[in-house]
Amino acid sequence: MTSPNPQDARRLWSKKTHDLTPYIPGEQPRDRQFIKLNTNENPYPPAPGVLEALKSFPIEQLKLYPDPTGLKLRTTIAEYYGLPLNQVFAGNGSDEVLAMAFQAFFDYHGDPNTATATKQIVFPDVTYSFYPVYANLYNIPFRRVALNEDFTIPLGDLAAPSAGIILANPNAPTGIALTLDQVANLASADRNRLVIVDEAYIDFGGESAVALLTEFDNILVIQTLSKSRALAGLRVGFAFGDPQLIAALERVRDSFNSYTLDSLAQTCAVAAFEDGNWFESTRAHIMATRQRTTAALERLGFTVLPSAANFIFVSHKRLAGDLLYSQLREAGILVRHFKQPRIEQFLRISIGTDAEMDRLITALETIVS
Ligand SMILES: *Cc1c(COP(=O)(O)O)cnc(C)c1O
Repeated sequence: MTSPNPQDARRLWSKKTHDLTPYIPGEQPRDRQFIKLNTNENPYPPAPGVLEALKSFPIEQLKLYPDPTGLKLRTTIAEYYGLPLNQVFAGNGSDEVLAMAFQAFFDYHGDPNTATATKQIVFPDVTYSFYPVYANLYNIPFRRVALNEDFTIPLGDLAAPSAGIILANPNAPTGIALTLDQVANLASADRNRLVIVDEAYIDFGGESAVALLTEFDNILVIQTLSKSRALAGLRVGFAFGDPQLIAALERVRDSFNSYTLDSLAQTCAVAAFEDGNWFESTRAHIMATRQRTTAALERLGFTVLPSAANFIFVSHKRLAGDLLYSQLREAGILVRHFKQPRIEQFLRISIGTDAEMDRLITALETIVS
């Protein structure tokens, strides 16, 4: 028997798989020691209470399925925000929660390329690059609205008729935050349209739209433990919103995988909230380091966008973005450079420890001089 072109099993792919353009995560080098300022991870370890929870985790519990509803974790975070339990959803990282939200709330309307404006969802042209990936995966038509010249969100364009709004607040990779009033205005523009607010970086200086949930049933807030709680490897994310929005996410989850959050993740996530002092002191420290780094880079001739996140978005008046990226890489410092229109000259630099930022500043001093 001869097999047809055994070299290449891509013939077995679905048409959908052929058409995908997957998200490209930031580099996680394993071979060389870099100062890693490229994926907005927290430079500090998780709260000490998380280690205690891990150590005392009853191993026999792993033979059982985890609690599919994540009751203890949801109760913990509901108390933290003063929300009723039925307004809290927990998932395996906020990326997964976002993917479920796209499925739960946005419709497929035939050919995405010919969809009219009111059938398209909208997001800024410069934002988290997973949004178009999810939209393509689920055939949801979308359009991008251009950020203003100063990289702020064009609120009028974003509020124009559409099938839904998604934005990151603070925005990534710019770090610029909207005020609560601005988010509320977007939600009031059309109460029959959902606004998804991705608050991955909210703990570094923004105002959470959780405060708007009593007034608006058309806001869904999404958060993660990956950045401010230093638990990117644990994969825990949340959604907060009207009970019927949460019910929609549960319907999608339970049509896909009821056990997205494993028992270890649930236990450690609870511990992260119970050990809140660590969170408060590390995030305050990161904000102070951000301020200090911003001032130092401005002295070196960099433009630094005003950031409410654990990263800064910077460009230099003389030196090109790709050059800065590769020279920093040679110096053992990894940052993120996006080969994308409008932001090619920028670097996104995560805020590390003080020692790491000192190394960055020294390296940039050499490169600039
Ligand atoms: C990091 C990030 C996420 C993903 O967080 P996970 O919970 O680790 O999946 C989502 N949105 C934005 C804007 C992010 O930067």
